[in-house]
Amino acid sequence: MKRFILSSILILSALLSQAQESSCGTELTAEHYKNLVELVGDAQRITAMRSGSIKIPVKVHIVQNADGYSGLSMDDIIFEFDKLNDLFSGADMEFYLSSEIDYIKDEELYDFNQSEEARLAASRDEPNAMNIYFVGSITNKQGNEICGYTYYPEANRDRIFVAAGCLQNSSTLAHEIGHYFSLIHTHGISGIDPEAVNGENCEKAGDLLCDTPADPNLLGKVDGDCSYTAHERDFNGDAYDPDTRNIMSYAPSYCRSEFSMDQLKVMTASYLENKSYLVANDDYSPIADFVSNKNFNDEVSNQLQIKVYANPGADQLGVEILDGLEGEFRVQVFNIMGNLIYEEPMDTYNQGNKMILDLSANVRGVYFVNVVGKGRHASEKVMLM
Ligand SMILES: [Zn+2]
Repeated sequence: MKRFILSSILILSALLSQAQESSCGTELTAEHYKNLVELVGDAQRITAMRSGSIKIPVKVHIVQNADGYSGLSMDDIIFEFDKLNDLFSGADMEFYLSSEIDYIKDEELYDFNQSEEARLAASRDEPNAMNIYFVGSITNKQGNEICGYTYYPEANRDRIFVAAGCLQNSSTLAHEIGHYFSLIHTHGISGIDPEAVNGENCEKAGDLLCDTPADPNLLGKVDGDCSYTAHERDFNGDAYDPDTRNIMSYAPSYCRSEFSMDQLKVMTASYLENKSYLVANDDYSPIADFVSNKNFNDEVSNQLQIKVYANPGADQLGVEILDGLEGEFRVQVFNIMGNLIYEEPMDTYNQGNKMILDLSANVRGVYFVNVVGKGRHASEKVMLM
């Protein structure tokens, strides 16, 4: 029996080494595949014991070239977090910044090769956080350009690498986080155990999940409208009808927009089994709420008109209420992690409608200014240089 398992693993390893063909560089191991079989079988029991939402601390590292260019604005980062929090809400997962963004100016690491991983990450990983490294571009050890990669839980590495150039209109980060929480590609391992269209072997073929339709590996087989264009049939002669929207597929990145229910459940189970040391610290505060103005957009009629301006070099913020409303308001400033760092009343009747805030005690970066009062509110983002 032992010999059988060993030879299976050798065959699997040989197949896996040929499977590097897409923009995803995450390498499936035989050990992970074996563990995933167990995790999928146990996911229902594991997740049944869970209560409350899972808050994942994320440390963002951004590599810049010698000119300080990263290809990523703060808006891009915020947009990515917003997207993640939508996509993973079905797994009750929420991602938040655990601490300030780590900027790394390094021309060599900006065009990153996988062989440089230790130099980039070994001394920079934040413990007990998911570390996301945004670099300019990534080439794998074979010299091929890839968009991102990470590790399955067995590797005990809390690192995800993403090329900034791949982020535009893309699901690359969510795809890699899917791997980080144990999911494999919806086509499983190309060339081994194909899943039947009728689902007869869905528990032990393909991606081992039954609510993702059989997938013949969509690389190069999906058009600009996200339709599957190949007319392949499975070993029963049934025509494939794969889901080109699934984030863990090889459909073009812009088509991929959702996880299946089973995938969400497996990710939650993987967190509970493998990553439960990722817990919210005392500073936890959601960023998405006021980043996306979700609370405010619901009540547009109550929108307050404000103007916020940074005074570069002086560490000061000017806040002006434009509606001509008189009365008491509250001015709040949040940092990028969502922590309230400044709060002051503003009485426009007695003090006028302008106010200068002294933020000299705070580092440069992005801040959010909220003004609340007279049944109205406003939120503005501002960059303090
Ligand atoms: Zn992948």
